[in-house]
Amino acid sequence: MSIQLVFLGTGSGKPMPRRNVSSMALFREGELFLFDCGEATQIQLTRSDLRPGALEAIFLSHFHGDHVNGLPGLVGSLTLNRRDRPLTIVGPRGLKKWFKCLHELHILRPGFQVKLIEVTKAGTVFEGEGYRVEAYPLEHRVPAWGYAMIEDSRPGRFDVGRARELGIPSGPLFGELQKGSTVTLDDGRVIEPSQVLGPPRPGLKIAYCTDTIPCGSALDLARDADLLVHESTYPPGEEELAHARGHSTAKDAAQCALKANARRLILTHISQKYLQLDEFIDGARQIFPNTEIARDLAKFTVERRDK
Ligand SMILES: [Zn+2]
Ligand SMILES: [Zn+2]
Repeated sequence: MSIQLVFLGTGSGKPMPRRNVSSMALFREGELFLFDCGEATQIQLTRSDLRPGALEAIFLSHFHGDHVNGLPGLVGSLTLNRRDRPLTIVGPRGLKKWFKCLHELHILRPGFQVKLIEVTKAGTVFEGEGYRVEAYPLEHRVPAWGYAMIEDSRPGRFDVGRARELGIPSGPLFGELQKGSTVTLDDGRVIEPSQVLGPPRPGLKIAYCTDTIPCGSALDLARDADLLVHESTYPPGEEELAHARGHSTAKDAAQCALKANARRLILTHISQKYLQLDEFIDGARQIFPNTEIARDLAKFTVERRDK
């Protein structure tokens, strides 16, 4: 069991052939999610091996063009593809107004139900089988939200040897205990699941943090994440410029990962000005060694700690 990420765009500002603007696809157990949808996201999807038909929900961090300009086109193409099941889109306040305009001007007439969710406060914004997505406010030039996909923890491993020692007959009672239910044996003894199960196995947490200056809420978002995807518009040393523009450097991203006790860091949202990314990665690794940098169409797999 694992989660796959595919970066569809890793640049900031404007799309370039070498680096498209922000979008990250997350694939989990047959369901596809997008975090941001910059221009040409749908073209990048066709270059990946992801199926747009598997899309369940799209999460928008904020209304800067490099994060949302690809959305009307993608939704239009899903209609042309004859999608008939609902799609959820989560974003900041103003999302409903935007879609109303698109509808009134006949730019977008989706042939399927689009569920729009405006984020107004921190907390759970979307739930599915075995996971939830939480939103955290970021500090940027406009209202912005970071998102974390958090899997439910699973029951601990079933200890067959211990169950036999306790005289539990194999069969349906094993299944009940495994699901976390208390069972009563024929001799009247009551067995609690904790007697035969190991400790609960935590699910994965993937945090998506862009665009922002370093802030406490970004740390909450990144807290204990198995993987933190963090914006890194500028290289280390450019903190003053970055913060003045509402952004972070690779050093800021690494400090966030370190302080929040994340396990792994991926840098994205790189200014198109920079062609050589060595200083980004080297600077970040001095603070947080388990750092990588995203490139367009790069794939990353996050494995569960206890499969
Ligand atoms: Zn941006
Ligand atoms: Zn922005």
